[in-house]
Amino acid sequence: MKINIEDVDVLVVGAGNAASCAALSAREAGARVAMIETAPEEARGGNSAYTGGAFRFPFTSVEQLLELSPDLAEMDLSKIDFGTYPKEQYFSDVAEWTEYRCDPVLTEILVDNSYQAGLWLRGHGVRFQPAFGRVAFKVGDTFRFWGGLACHIWGGGEELLRAQYKALEKAGVKVNYNTTCVGLLEGDGQIEGVKVRTADGVGEIRAKAVVLACGGFESSPEMRARYLGPNWDLVKVRGTRYNTGRGHQMAIEAGAAVTGHWSGAHACQWDMNAPPYGDLSIGDKFQKHNYPLGIVVNARGERFIDEGLDFHVLTYAKYGQEMVKQPGLIAWQVFDQKVTKYFRDEYRMRPVTKETADTLEELATKLAGVDPEGFLKTVREYNAAPRPDVPFDPSVHDGLKTSGLAIDKTNWANRLDSPPYEAFGVTAGITFTFGGLKISTEAEVEDASGKPIKGLFAAGEIVGGLYYHNYGAGTGLAAGAVFGRIAGASAARLARG
Ligand SMILES: Cc1cc2nc3c(=O)[nH]c(=O)nc-3n(C[C@H](O)[C@H](O)[C@H](O)COP(=O)(O)OP(=O)(O)OC[C@H]3O[C@@H](n4cnc5c(N)ncnc54)[C@H](O)[C@@H]3O)c2cc1C
Repeated sequence: MKINIEDVDVLVVGAGNAASCAALSAREAGARVAMIETAPEEARGGNSAYTGGAFRFPFTSVEQLLELSPDLAEMDLSKIDFGTYPKEQYFSDVAEWTEYRCDPVLTEILVDNSYQAGLWLRGHGVRFQPAFGRVAFKVGDTFRFWGGLACHIWGGGEELLRAQYKALEKAGVKVNYNTTCVGLLEGDGQIEGVKVRTADGVGEIRAKAVVLACGGFESSPEMRARYLGPNWDLVKVRGTRYNTGRGHQMAIEAGAAVTGHWSGAHACQWDMNAPPYGDLSIGDKFQKHNYPLGIVVNARGERFIDEGLDFHVLTYAKYGQEMVKQPGLIAWQVFDQKVTKYFRDEYRMRPVTKETADTLEELATKLAGVDPEGFLKTVREYNAAPRPDVPFDPSVHDGLKTSGLAIDKTNWANRLDSPPYEAFGVTAGITFTFGGLKISTEAEVEDASGKPIKGLFAAGEIVGGLYYHNYGAGTGLAAGAVFGRIAGASAARLARG
């Protein structure tokens, strides 16, 4: 079958954040660029379309934030405490989250280039805004930011991609939808294009360089069960249904080396009645990230995590993995009136799986799937546990901790004694998989001997080596932008000789 995509220097597979950055960067370097996307136009954008827009970058001054988000100038900055997030902190955070397994060279490239990548995106029409409702609490009359995140992308993934597609159109880069990459064309020691499937059949697209930016394998129950283990095939998918791991498979067939935590994935607490795949009209709002302010109980009525170990942006991605180990993959988050004023907007939206009761005994009868006696025993022990006499403050590690419990709660351990009580039903929602392709500092895909596979580049979720065990919010989009830019520039350089 003839495919009308010709004279391409750089072919980018995918149309999410990493792919768009790679295509724009290759175009800026003078290459003729085309993109192919397996999804129809109305479902374009992969996981990037579902994002809340958190974007992690280092900063040491408000001036840097002002440059990225000029809207800040209209605000009373004396009433906002952004703190700082130096490169050293960012680097050591990633090292700690990944239990010191992250690739130090790739991590350094991420840390050193994410702020510049933000400015570059701003140059392509992406707007940034301070993330008040997400990573800041009002304490007294000051908004205090925490967790190393100061700015989000305005309008989340939807507006990020709207700006990127507009920039691609302006740059003359066409996105070919309903075009699935099913294989790589291997020539003499070089990748020379791809095999694709469309509604009209299978065909080939020739290119001097190929950038794989087609996401992880989170959308494939088969690959999830195969690599992540039991019950991962049962989880809900927070985003796209199209990231089925074909990119991984075709690169491996072409001799690519793999790296990263192949049995690991980003997953979080997700509304237990959410649909099996993401809903673009809801975006990321089926997530329930305020668990640090309450307790979480499983079907036996038992707590199974330290809800107050750290700010949610530093624990949410690994606690979703704990959900997969719970009976029936279900749990309930329980709160009282001392903390509901801090609820993120995802707790106030509809639809939501929620129960309310004036007594804990009444609540125990309403938590679907939970042993009421087990729940009441847990709450009584939790409320009775000794605590230091320190004030509750959700914007810092307040040290309001329990002691003597099977799992103590390290911070924000208020007793549950201010009715009405509110409970939210959750399950495991997978975001993306951690295992991926081994790339060089130029985003070239490497073979088993560490040599670049000529003509093959990768960026975004498909890249391995950055994430192990855990993940800090806002790193996904930042890494996609940083390595997308590098992949595009390197591919253009090769293509243009
Ligand atoms: C609900 C949700 C909220 C999130 N919030 C944030 C956040 O606030 N901040 C953050 O940093 N990260 C966030 N993430 C993670 C973030 O989405 C990803 O890390 C990032 O967007 C991945 O970008 P990508 O370009 O690599 O992949 P994607 O955006 O998923 O793009 C991959 C593209 O490739 C296409 N594709 C797949 N296979 C093929 C094929 N064979 N042929 C052709 N095309 C193919 C897909 O259809 C898709 O369009 C969130 C994720 C989800 C699901």
